[in-house]
Amino acid sequence: MVEELIHAKRMVIVSNRLPITLHKTDAGQWQIKSGSGGLITALGAVLRNRGGRWIGWIGADDESAIPLAKGASREAGYELTPVLLTAEEVDRYYHGFANAVLWPLFHDFINRCDFAPEYWPAYQQVNHKFARIIAETTAPTDYIWVQDYHLTLVAGYLRELGANRRTGFFLHVPFPPLDIFLRLPWRAQVLNALLQFDLIAFQTMRDHRNFMQCVRTLLPGIRLEKEDKFVSKVTTPERSLRVAAIPIGIDYDEFARGAEQAAEAAWYIHEKLPERQLILGVDRLDYSKGIPQRIRAIGNALERYPDLRERFTFTQVVVPSREDVPEYQELRSEIERLVGEINGRFTTSGWTPIHYIYRSLTREELLAYYRTSEVMLVTPLKDGMNLVAKEFCACSIEENAVLILSEFAGAAAQLSRYALLVNPYDVEGVADALHTALSMDGKERQSRMHRARTVIRRESIYWWVDNFLKAAISADLSYFPRAEYFVPQMDNKESA
Ligand code: UDP
Repeated sequence: MVEELIHAKRMVIVSNRLPITLHKTDAGQWQIKSGSGGLITALGAVLRNRGGRWIGWIGADDESAIPLAKGASREAGYELTPVLLTAEEVDRYYHGFANAVLWPLFHDFINRCDFAPEYWPAYQQVNHKFARIIAETTAPTDYIWVQDYHLTLVAGYLRELGANRRTGFFLHVPFPPLDIFLRLPWRAQVLNALLQFDLIAFQTMRDHRNFMQCVRTLLPGIRLEKEDKFVSKVTTPERSLRVAAIPIGIDYDEFARGAEQAAEAAWYIHEKLPERQLILGVDRLDYSKGIPQRIRAIGNALERYPDLRERFTFTQVVVPSREDVPEYQELRSEIERLVGEINGRFTTSGWTPIHYIYRSLTREELLAYYRTSEVMLVTPLKDGMNLVAKEFCACSIEENAVLILSEFAGAAAQLSRYALLVNPYDVEGVADALHTALSMDGKERQSRMHRARTVIRRESIYWWVDNFLKAAISADLSYFPRAEYFVPQMDNKESA
């Protein structure tokens, strides 16, 4: 019954960016590139199967690019509707409100927020533009699924425009605790706008609870009920909506298969670094990823555990991001200074502790690194989910690897019992976990990794799409996943 209902609805995905990008060549010609990644693959499949549309910023402000994007629809198998933004909108809505207000705020970096008053009207204007395009290009029977923090106001504007649609919202990043959210000058407007969606889903129960606490405190008069431990109902004077946690997954089979095929590249990496245990870190250049703290932990481990010297090689891949922003340039300099310092201190003839790569890897390289590494350090200071952690496990096809995971990554909710959990701010704690991982026996590694992979395989990106749509369309609570958030336990050291 539910399956039939889901299939009856045409689906419309709305995200900041379309799943294609356009570049102008030196000769002035537009070039089109289709995006990749689990989200695009999974949502693309849904759109192709049931018919649908993807609405997003085209990444160019030139109208001559529009026919090209429309042409790309034929190739994609569903409609692509481009949104054009002016240079000022890109600056104030995207670089401003999205990246300099909501991104740092939602990741608890209050000191990095720039609450410039001119960002808010631009954010409203662009969200309104998206809503207008949705109203013009969709029918009342379509289901509108909005992705992420760039577009929190869209459902409210759709109502203002008189466009009656069923809408859902998924937040890919964390939702901050009350004390942090209170700092946002437009806090009530953002919360009220979110309550215009019919379903709001977060990555974890932690985010879900934070959101409910903000609504309870900032919007008195709104009724909040727990339908069960995992699903909440919010009733405003006009209507009611549901709030849930539905953690995003990866295309597990695609990664596991890819890792099988990357054997040759993996062997090459291994051959170049013989007799060492390989440790890996892969992150986009961002202050939320905790890269400097992690590098300090490597130095600390080498200092406090001399037996580890010459035993491992740590490869840190940093994928360039937001390179024109001074804060990101400073972060890069700090990382490179720390790498230089530790290598300068511990390198011996024939051994360099840290290999540092500052570029994007090809897919084959990435899979080869995942497959070859025995320990992966995923230690963000805060992260909505962290897909790299899941991809690493999917690619550990020999099941002989250990994941060291920050308790502040969304992935900790699902993997807390199988990974070695760490507080990324605790440099000695991360160093100790590294020592534990490197000395862990094969049987324990196998048992942990096998169980982690079972969860990641089951709760894949397809499971996520399926569960979101069931939760969006059915009143039946049994369709909501039951994913608790990991709550740190005091260990003996802390309680002493
Ligand atoms: N990734 C990539 N190129 C690389 C290294 C990583 O495209 O050279 C991908 C990786 O496979 C993962 C994504 O970047 O899917 C990072 O996602 P994650 O959730 O870990 O962090 P985000 O960058 O979205 O904050």
